[in-house]
Amino acid sequence: MLIMKFGGTSVENAAAMHNVASIVKQHQHRKPFVVISAIAQATNLLTSIGTNAALGNMSVVQENIATFISKHVSIIEEGISSPQTQRRLKETVANVQQDLERLSQGIFFLRELSPRSLDALCVFGEYLSSLCVHEIFLEQEIPGVWLDAKKFMLTDNNFTSASPRLDEVQKRLQNILHNVEKENPIFVTQGFIGATEEGIPTTMGRESSDFTAAVLGSVLNADEIQIWTDVDGFFTADPRVIPTAKLIPHLSYAEALELADRGAKVLHPKTMLPIAEKNLPLLIRNSKNPTSAGTSVSSSRNEFATAVGVTLKNNIAIVSLIPFEQKNFSLLTEILAGILAEHKRTPLFHSAGERAHLFGFEGGKISDSFIQAFREIGSVTLVEKKSLLTIVGNNIFQSPSVVMRFMKSLADTQLHYMTMSAHRLSLAAVVNEEDALRSMVAIHKEFFEQ
Ligand code: ADP
Ligand code: ASP
Ligand code: MG
Repeated sequence: MLIMKFGGTSVENAAAMHNVASIVKQHQHRKPFVVISAIAQATNLLTSIGTNAALGNMSVVQENIATFISKHVSIIEEGISSPQTQRRLKETVANVQQDLERLSQGIFFLRELSPRSLDALCVFGEYLSSLCVHEIFLEQEIPGVWLDAKKFMLTDNNFTSASPRLDEVQKRLQNILHNVEKENPIFVTQGFIGATEEGIPTTMGRESSDFTAAVLGSVLNADEIQIWTDVDGFFTADPRVIPTAKLIPHLSYAEALELADRGAKVLHPKTMLPIAEKNLPLLIRNSKNPTSAGTSVSSSRNEFATAVGVTLKNNIAIVSLIPFEQKNFSLLTEILAGILAEHKRTPLFHSAGERAHLFGFEGGKISDSFIQAFREIGSVTLVEKKSLLTIVGNNIFQSPSVVMRFMKSLADTQLHYMTMSAHRLSLAAVVNEEDALRSMVAIHKEFFEQ
C-alpha cells in the first residue's frame, strides 16, 4: 500500500483537485491510500472565525464564513460535472455553513474560544476538501471510498494538539477496511483530524496532515509514503526565501527531522517518528511539477562531512537565569522543569550548568508570570525577537572546516547564542531578526553556491 498525502495548495481549487486525481491514477496499481488537507487558507479562515467570534467581531466572522463557503461552492461548480452530485455536495456545504454559524454564535455568547471549540471548527476544512476530491475521483473513474478519519483516528483529548493511539487506530482501520465491498478501492480520508473515544472532534496540531500520513503508513505497514506539496522536495534553504536554493535528492531520517524541527516547513517534524520507527521510505514530491523526482528520505546516511541545508526560525526568545544561591544541579533542574510544565512551555534549546541555565523558546510572547517565576530563583535576562539559523548534516562535526565556514559567514553579525544539537546533527546561531536574512544568504552562499 502507498500513502499519498496532498497539502493545501495541492487541492486549492478545482483544477488542482483534478491534477491530484491524475497523479493518483498514475499510481493506481500501487493501492494508494489518499490523505487530503484542507484547501489552502481554509484552516486559517476557520481559526479566524473562532478568534473573531470570541472577540465579538461578528462581521469578520460572517465574512470568513462566506469566503470559506464560496471557495468550496466554486470548486463544486467548476470541478464536478454531474448536476446531482453538485446538488448533493452543495447541500453538505450548506449544512457546514449552518454548523459554522451555530458554533460561532456559541463562542460569541461565551466570548471564549476553548481548544475544543477551535477543533470543532477546524475539522470542517479537511471534511469538505476530502469530500470534493472523493467525488472528483469517482467522476474520473477512480474507485474512491471516502473514510471519516473521526471513525478511526482515535486520539487523546488534548484538543488542538491531540495524540493518536496507534494500536487502536490500527484495530479500527483494519476493521473498516475489511468491511469495504468495492473492488480495488482507493481510500480517501482527511489529514489533521481525529476524535476522542467519545467521538468529540480533535486536531493534531497545525500542519499535521503530514503526520496523519505517517501514522497511516505505520499502522498499515505501507511500502512508501509520498508527501505531495508545492515545491519539488527539501531544498538547501526555503526556496521562497533563497531563490538559489537547490533540491536535496536524498536525506536520512535524522537530517529530515532536524531540518523540519528547525524550520523547514515542507514537512511537519512529528511525521518522522512513526516513519523512522518502521523504516518506511518517504518521498517528498511536487504536485505542480510531478516529473521531478523529489527528495527521498530513508535510513541510509549521506557520508559527506558537509551540511545538507540551512534553516531559519524567527520570533525566538532567550531566557537566561543565574540563581541567587548555589543549588545542587538536580534540585535546580527540577524546579525549572516544574515552572516549564506549569506554563506549558517546551524549550527549543537549553543549556545547563551549576551556575546558569539558558532556554531558547519559539513563537509568542514570553508571559510576565513565567518570567516572574524565574525571578524568584535568580536574576533573569530576556531577549526577544531574535532568529535562529541552523545548518544541518549527519556528519558536520567530522570536518572542522564546517564550523569555521559557518562562523565566517556570520563574521559581521551580532551573535546572541550558539548551540550544537545533542545528537550532533546541527549547529545553530541566534542573531537579530534584522540580520537574519542577510546571514542566511551568506551561509547559503558559503555552503551551497561554491
Ligand atoms: P503543504 O500545504 O503542502 O503542507 P507547506 O506550505 O506546509 O505545504 O510546505 C511547503 C512550503 O515549505 C514551501 O512552499 C516552502 O516555502 C516551505 N519551505 C521551508 N523550508 C523549506 C525547505 N528547506 N525546502 C523546501 N521547502 C521549504
Ligand atoms: N489544514 C491543516 C493546517 O492548515 C493541516 C495541514 O494542512 O497539514 O494546519
Ligand atoms: Mg504542510
